[in-house]
Amino acid sequence: MSEAVAGAVAERFAELYGAGPEGVWAAPGRVNLIGEHTDYNDGFVMPFALPHTAVAAVSRREDGLLRLHSADVEGGVSELRVADLAPGTDRGWTAYPAGVVWALREAGHEVTGADIHLASTVPAGAGLSSSAALEVVVALALNDLYGLGLRGWQLARLCQRAENVYVGAPVGIMDQTAAACCEAGHALFLDTRDLSQRQIPFDLAAEGMRLLVVDTQVKHAHSEGEYGKRRAGCEKGAALLGVDALRDVPYDGLEAALERLGDDEEVRRLVRHVVTEDERVERVVSLLESGRTGEIGPVLTEGHASLRDDFRISCPELDLVVDTALAEGALGARMTGGGFGGSAIVLARAADVETLTKAVQEAFARAGLTAPRVFEAVPSAGARRLA
Ligand code: ADP
Ligand code: MG
Repeated sequence: MSEAVAGAVAERFAELYGAGPEGVWAAPGRVNLIGEHTDYNDGFVMPFALPHTAVAAVSRREDGLLRLHSADVEGGVSELRVADLAPGTDRGWTAYPAGVVWALREAGHEVTGADIHLASTVPAGAGLSSSAALEVVVALALNDLYGLGLRGWQLARLCQRAENVYVGAPVGIMDQTAAACCEAGHALFLDTRDLSQRQIPFDLAAEGMRLLVVDTQVKHAHSEGEYGKRRAGCEKGAALLGVDALRDVPYDGLEAALERLGDDEEVRRLVRHVVTEDERVERVVSLLESGRTGEIGPVLTEGHASLRDDFRISCPELDLVVDTALAEGALGARMTGGGFGGSAIVLARAADVETLTKAVQEAFARAGLTAPRVFEAVPSAGARRLA
């Protein structure tokens, strides 16, 4: 499978650039199992990699040119000069790979140019992190080709910097770390403060369970502004409580913290979500580590209620997926990602998948909504070289 993909991408590269690539790499999209809006609060997250990947065929250049092409975007090859790369100069998709080259060079790594052809099966803008897949696949390719010797977490940091500074999106470290570091059959327990990580066994098939991703295909327009507001509100909460980040508010000190926040209801809600969500991640880790996989369902559902009622970033479409799935016997369900659209995840017994999927589709049809895309998410490998 991956050999055929690598071959096809290499072939297209040769058509575009006149010779075959030096290599082909892949980096996955991700789903966050639990730990939502905790990453910019220095908290815990727990993503796993999807089988969907961004694939890059890449060769080095020594003349300072960076040539970029994507199979998934209209238009030809974009040509840039690595010496001219500067934050804020590019508003298009090329900012992601160019930002990675910029971040590597900024960090003192000698990258003298590249020819890059990309093709991705990670749906863009569905909350499954197509952007980090793109960044990480380029970073890994250049790391290998230029012999930079950087580890996965270091590549993730550079990719985050590319997205924060070069693209101008204030994202946390989760997506890039997931794309770089996940392992098949595992979820990645990541402490976003010190980047320490642990691979947690998450082999659903062996337990007779499935995890479905339901992409609602909606994206409500105000989502970016709302993300900024939530971030600012969390920072305000930390400042009022005198801690560096909400991560520092212990779960058993939550009630006292909420009392100290007085009648600032908005901030109280945000703080309650973040502190309880960190605790939910820890609960899921300990359930999975003791082989009680099915019992994580209610914890996921609790997480959804917290995102809906306290963090207030769900939307009718996401709630419809969760409510319908639970009514049809799902073990647990929650929205995932930034909110206001994008995807939800549903944990179900294998035997229930068909009925569940049908029920969700029918509920959307009844509500006059666009049919959601439903697919199974098998915990898959992180970034790797294919050829
Ligand atoms: P998400 O990461 O949740 O999918 P983002 O808004 O962070 O959503 O990133 C989506 C952007 O990433 C797209 O608008 C596009 O610029 C870029 N992108 C994703 N996949 C590709 C691709 N295959 N080719 C070119 N650009 C892509
Ligand atoms: Mg993204």
